[in-house]
Amino acid sequence: MPYCEVALAIPLEQHFFYSVPDSIQLKPGVRVIVPFGPRKLIGVVLRCNADPAGIEPSSIKPIQQALDDDAVLSPELLRLGRWISDYYFVPEGEVLASMLPRNAPVLKRDRIVLTATGEASLNNPSTDGSELAVLRRIAKRNGIRRETLRPHSKLVQKLHRRGWIRYEQSLEARAAIELAAADDPTAIEATDRHDLTTGQSAVLCAIERKMDSGQFGVVLLHGVTGSGKTEVYLRAIEHCLAKNRPALMLVPEISLTPAMAGLFDARFGNRVAVLHSGMSDNEREEQWHRVRTGRSDVVLGTRSAVFAPLNRPGLVIVDEEHDWSYKQEEAPRYHGRDMAIVRARDAGATVILGSATPAIETRHNAETGRYQLLELEHRVQERPLAQTEIVDMRQEFVETGKKSFLSRRLEEEIEKRLQQHEQNLILMNRRGYSAFVLCRTCGHSIECPNCSIALTHHKRFPRLLCHYCGHARAIPKFCPECASEHLYFMGEGSEQIEEALQRRFPAARIGRLDRDTAAGRGRAAAILAAFRNHELDILVGTQMIAKGHDIHRVTLVGVISADIGLARPDFRAAERTFQLLTQVAGRAGRGDLPGEVIIQTYYPEHYAIRSAAAQDYAMFYAKELGFRQVMHYPPFSVLANVIIKSPSAENALKITGRLGRHLEAQQKPGLKLLGPAAAPIHKLKKDYRYHFLIKASRHRILADVLHSCRDFARTENFPPTAMIIDVDPQSFT
Ligand code: ADP
Ligand code: ZN
Ligand code: ZN
Repeated sequence: MPYCEVALAIPLEQHFFYSVPDSIQLKPGVRVIVPFGPRKLIGVVLRCNADPAGIEPSSIKPIQQALDDDAVLSPELLRLGRWISDYYFVPEGEVLASMLPRNAPVLKRDRIVLTATGEASLNNPSTDGSELAVLRRIAKRNGIRRETLRPHSKLVQKLHRRGWIRYEQSLEARAAIELAAADDPTAIEATDRHDLTTGQSAVLCAIERKMDSGQFGVVLLHGVTGSGKTEVYLRAIEHCLAKNRPALMLVPEISLTPAMAGLFDARFGNRVAVLHSGMSDNEREEQWHRVRTGRSDVVLGTRSAVFAPLNRPGLVIVDEEHDWSYKQEEAPRYHGRDMAIVRARDAGATVILGSATPAIETRHNAETGRYQLLELEHRVQERPLAQTEIVDMRQEFVETGKKSFLSRRLEEEIEKRLQQHEQNLILMNRRGYSAFVLCRTCGHSIECPNCSIALTHHKRFPRLLCHYCGHARAIPKFCPECASEHLYFMGEGSEQIEEALQRRFPAARIGRLDRDTAAGRGRAAAILAAFRNHELDILVGTQMIAKGHDIHRVTLVGVISADIGLARPDFRAAERTFQLLTQVAGRAGRGDLPGEVIIQTYYPEHYAIRSAAAQDYAMFYAKELGFRQVMHYPPFSVLANVIIKSPSAENALKITGRLGRHLEAQQKPGLKLLGPAAAPIHKLKKDYRYHFLIKASRHRILADVLHSCRDFARTENFPPTAMIIDVDPQSFT
């Protein structure tokens, strides 16, 4: 009996062998149900006719059932899965499972159609009578469901063997899924094609040349905010489709960019499939199936859409490539942008990475020639970038003698816009009402019972909430430690800013966009639509308001507290602050009216804030690259974060000590070990956590060490969930 090799979605690296009964037809990429101990699991076939060398044949169990007739994962996606498994140290079965929608539809060839010889036999007088009857039934309806002919299955098998009929997949007409943009009819404001500016033409020309070469290549499209990158993407996709190859575009978050889905819909109609996490399982399944069956050849989606079942895409676009939401923060911890590149390399496709604020690593790759650098240095129609002004809040306090989160300058400018019927965006990158609650008597701050982090006060909810595990508790009147009634609510969040602005400008129509108000389907799109339609004068929000929005009446952007992110225990804190401020500043003055930006800060000297205010990427890049070089951070090294966690503080410490001694012994040139140290959030979701940061000069060296860690964990019998390996980490909580 032949054997096949199967990947199972369990936390073990190895594959498993099963025997294949005669009645089951398999090919790689087909899902199967297999026995595993007392359980039944769904796995993916990696290889048929595999050689289970060294395994006692009698111990090999048979496949129980094949779920699909056709592969749900193409050879291309199976190769990508293998790559991810090796690179990110995740079991292959877990990777493959996460590449499919949860309810990936079963691919059954459940229809019978006639082949050319079958057609010929219809008119052949020597064809047997009962066979002819069946052939006629199939011909009459241009194909028939296999189920319908079940009573004649013997005969059908015979006809199949003879090559008179074949099985194919039925394309049931299903209701087309409306695009996310349908929630926001105004988002389709811009259906017509723009005549390209000279800058756009030059860039597009270079991209088309690259695509015409038919070779893999990466382009960094570095264009300032409002330079018209979207039109370049759309034209490049048109070019790709004209060459009969499908196209894929990734965006950070679709609900925040409903206008993009509208543009795709207007330009490519029902060729577009949209894939993102805000959809119901059924919708995702529907869209996935459209792509899998070739009915959609343009995919717009978030991170996991990089696994869309397109057949050899010719173009892969990653919009806002610097956005950190491209990194998946749970297993498999892959980076969507980097996987887009790996996939394109395999398919011989062109990649466009687009941003006004490219990641340092990306810009470095362009500087060193690995990527082709294309730049758009000006906004379309000679619109100027917004004027910016920094307000030093220390000085403000000295001059006014009172603590206020709204400076006189910002207040004045908001007032002016309200009078002129223009719109304001106010960034406050922290949600909630107050960041923490402090007891003035004993100094205790109210923490989450599951995490070592202060609870955030949400006034309207009204609860204290943990932003990491979701724990909620009633708002206390007395200190839980000393029963004092002197509780301080400290550190304002977006909810409080909204309230304060409303108090200050009672006639203004004010809305808020953050994770609290955007919870619930279509909420973010509705808030953005209201703002776009000028039903709101001021929109207050977290980083959500900084994403790609193109709203022409916005002439003022205010940043309440520019330094919030700078204190994060993350070597990218400066980069993220620079990106956020530059992106939000880029929302002002995108129409006929010029824009202005006011940045309030307690740290006006910081280079991230100064270069963002100057909207000067080159200045930030030069400074930041120097820092990365001195500190041996990417792009001058590759990193992995190895986290040890356990619900028992003692076990966490013990395991960390053992791994630490193992890692000490691995020291060699090109390798730097930092830690162990308590993780920045020492206790998270009831687990106590320590981590090691490993820096290496090359990925190979890093991979060797991580392999040794994994082997060590196995031989030392660490609990399977005790060690997390995060390759190319983007967050360090
Ligand atoms: P970016 O993504 O680079 O920030 P967008 O693609 O959102 O910029 O374009 C900014 C604005 O310019 C949009 O309103 C878009 O419709 C408009 N636009 C783009 N290209 C052109 C063009 N060639 N002529 C006129 N307007 C354009
Ligand atoms: Zn107290
Ligand atoms: Zn918590």
